[in-house]
Amino acid sequence: MKPLFIGGERVTTSSAVENVNPSDISDVIDTYAQAGVAETQTAIQAARAAFEGWAFSTPQERHDVLKTTGDEIIARKDELGTLLSREEGKILSEGIAEVTRAGQIFHFFAGEALRQTGEIVASVRPGIGVEITREPIGVVGVITPWNFPVAIPAWKIAPALCFGNTVVFKPAELVPGSAWELTDILHRAGLPEGVLNLVMGPGSVVGQTMLDDPRIDAITFTGSQATGARVAQACVTHMRKMQLEMGGKNPLVVLDDADLDVAIEAALNGAFYSTGQRCTASSRLIVTQEIHGRFVDGLSQRMRGLKVGHALAADTQIGPVVDATQLAQDLEYIDIACRQGGSLRGGNSSMTHETQGFFLEPALITETVPEMRINTEEVFGPIASVIRVRDYEEALHVANDSTYGLSAGICTTNLKYASDFKRKAEAGMVMVNLPTAGVDYHVPFGGRKASSYGPREQGSHAREFFTTVKTAYTAP
Ligand code: ADP
Repeated sequence: MKPLFIGGERVTTSSAVENVNPSDISDVIDTYAQAGVAETQTAIQAARAAFEGWAFSTPQERHDVLKTTGDEIIARKDELGTLLSREEGKILSEGIAEVTRAGQIFHFFAGEALRQTGEIVASVRPGIGVEITREPIGVVGVITPWNFPVAIPAWKIAPALCFGNTVVFKPAELVPGSAWELTDILHRAGLPEGVLNLVMGPGSVVGQTMLDDPRIDAITFTGSQATGARVAQACVTHMRKMQLEMGGKNPLVVLDDADLDVAIEAALNGAFYSTGQRCTASSRLIVTQEIHGRFVDGLSQRMRGLKVGHALAADTQIGPVVDATQLAQDLEYIDIACRQGGSLRGGNSSMTHETQGFFLEPALITETVPEMRINTEEVFGPIASVIRVRDYEEALHVANDSTYGLSAGICTTNLKYASDFKRKAEAGMVMVNLPTAGVDYHVPFGGRKASSYGPREQGSHAREFFTTVKTAYTAP
């Protein structure tokens, strides 16, 4: 049994859950200890007790822990990438790329630890000095989803530690393996006891205990809108800072003047890679009428060529869906879309390839209109819909006609439309001639409307959430 980490101790529990490979349900990766209310509260207490020491540690000390962590993650990228793909189901090259990304994030924040500055401002009163500095917030609760088992924990935990906060980390139930390895690496990299605590277990118990505990000063969360709303309400009750990332219904606009190959590649990657299980996935393909036929035919042909299978098999391009519940939800959305008038290409599901897993062929649903549920609700699978529009103006309107606003893309060779879209797309991230998914790690990540709440994640903008500002006045 892989234990919890509380106050620097490895803690086993009476119950443990199995981590099952979605590519092969007979493959149990390991069993993992499960925290209850008591363990979670002890972890919060440990983080509280460790806060003062870590908050006043030197930038060099924080740099060294983060740098050593990044080094080990990158050195073990093949092994950790294999574990990630085995527990989550994205293909091995994507698993290794995600692990590499996590290492790079730790390296970025190792540098950031050495770049902490303040401001000296002239007072409006004679003889008085004014300094503006940033300080850690305190104990940060980190609650993460299953679709990026190591990159999302990395981009929350690295800045939290960089700026002197202590952490209670609750990973998603389906992917404890990557979370456990990351925590183990950080401990061996020299993190003092209690600075990072790992509590694996159900959201309704461990997560909820974190939300209800006034000793947690801030919560950074990525997950569903429904859980995000609960997190928000709890944070308001406790007057604590929050940062919420809650998915998207990301549009990819394809205009008549687009380079067809570029558009098909962007749609194929954005909609189906990582089994479509990315909050930045291109789920609404908004296509103008002249290019519509060629685009749909070309994309369908490429889609049919994608090899679905075991995430670790060398020739697989699309791994399984993460579990049975998610597969049932994906199939239900395909069904709803067809019943509401959509026309389906692909989308066959089968539990039996060489192994038993949750396999689903990419699905493209054409002839859809914006009001259909497939175009308004996040699905989170290898499923994209096509909406045919008259011209750029209608495409822009449809793209923005969503409660979400995470990422938005456009494929065009016309500078006027590209510039206009960059300005008017109601999204936190805009992509021109690129998939809506796939971002850099040193620049802000986040969205608008129901997609995100609170300051941006990643890059130097992460400081906004993970620190609080102090203004000090000194009279001579
Ligand atoms: P997903 O659909 O991606 O699983 P969820 O919002 O259900 O999204 O889960 C995201 C994270 O939130 C997971 O770590 C989950 O355990 C956690 N979670 C679920 N319910 C709660 C809750 N009531 N309080 C706090 N965290 C929760």
